[in-house]
Amino acid sequence: MVEVTPAHSTVSAATAAGGASIVGRGVSKRFAAGATSFVALDDVSFEIGGGEFVSLIGPSGCGKSTLMLIAAGLIPATGGEIRVAGKPMSGPLTDVGIVFQDHLLLDFRTALANVMLQPEVRAMPLASKREEALRLLAKLGIPDIACGRYPNQLSGGMRQRVSIARALIHQPSVLLMDEPFGALDAITRTQIRHDLELLWMETRKTVLFITHSIEEAIGLSDRVLVMSPNPGRIVDEIAIDLPRPRPAVLGEDASFNKYAERIHHAFLKMGVIKY
Ligand code: ADP
Ligand code: MG
Repeated sequence: MVEVTPAHSTVSAATAAGGASIVGRGVSKRFAAGATSFVALDDVSFEIGGGEFVSLIGPSGCGKSTLMLIAAGLIPATGGEIRVAGKPMSGPLTDVGIVFQDHLLLDFRTALANVMLQPEVRAMPLASKREEALRLLAKLGIPDIACGRYPNQLSGGMRQRVSIARALIHQPSVLLMDEPFGALDAITRTQIRHDLELLWMETRKTVLFITHSIEEAIGLSDRVLVMSPNPGRIVDEIAIDLPRPRPAVLGEDASFNKYAERIHHAFLKMGVIKY
């Protein structure tokens, strides 16, 4: 009998399909600001199943990056908690890959050497990891010839592709992406979105993807979490039931438009957008 793995794995499984669950319960974050304090996140709860691709969308300053840093174990929550693979945080996660809007590549290392940084610091077998890095870079659209180039010899899109490879080379079970395509032009964004989707379909890592773009959130995700302006709370959660891989031009799909309108309406209601 052939066993079929459901596309939407359940959160009860701490790890599934190559990914670990990420569960937030009543997460709040208060930053001290002199004698007073500033509440960035207020009672945020969510569940991301192992192997699920979930986007978090919300206006600037609503606390998306703060939530991601808490999920990575890089800063503590001041209330509630985030558990990855069912485990409470006890410091920075190691079984994680992180991609930021800025590629953060080392300019004195080639593309390949930037990716190899991870295996080097993690004392992994370098020869086999080098082969894996070249394969991963090729899948992300970086041909062998470009692997020897330095970041300033690569386009913005290629630099971001290299930073995705660097985040994945150690095969983490969780990938956290904070507006990774925010600085790229629209054409590059569409292509890199598609390439990321194909790679995700193959590996099924758990992905928490932060974006400002409604199209990107719907185009990539199994589920979209919509956040309110400050203090950040989750105000809507939308399951995206569209077949994969999804087309480059989504606007022709009636379901896509229905999802986009729902997110747009949530932002209208909160006064984030006015029309
Ligand atoms: P987003 O990523 O959604 O744009 P952030 O998570 O970066 O938002 O920030 C949320 C809010 O918290 C913002 O108002 C920001 O100024 C504030 N903030 C973020 N980090 C700090 C910090 N270390 N100290 C004080 N305030 C902060
Ligand atoms: Mg941010």
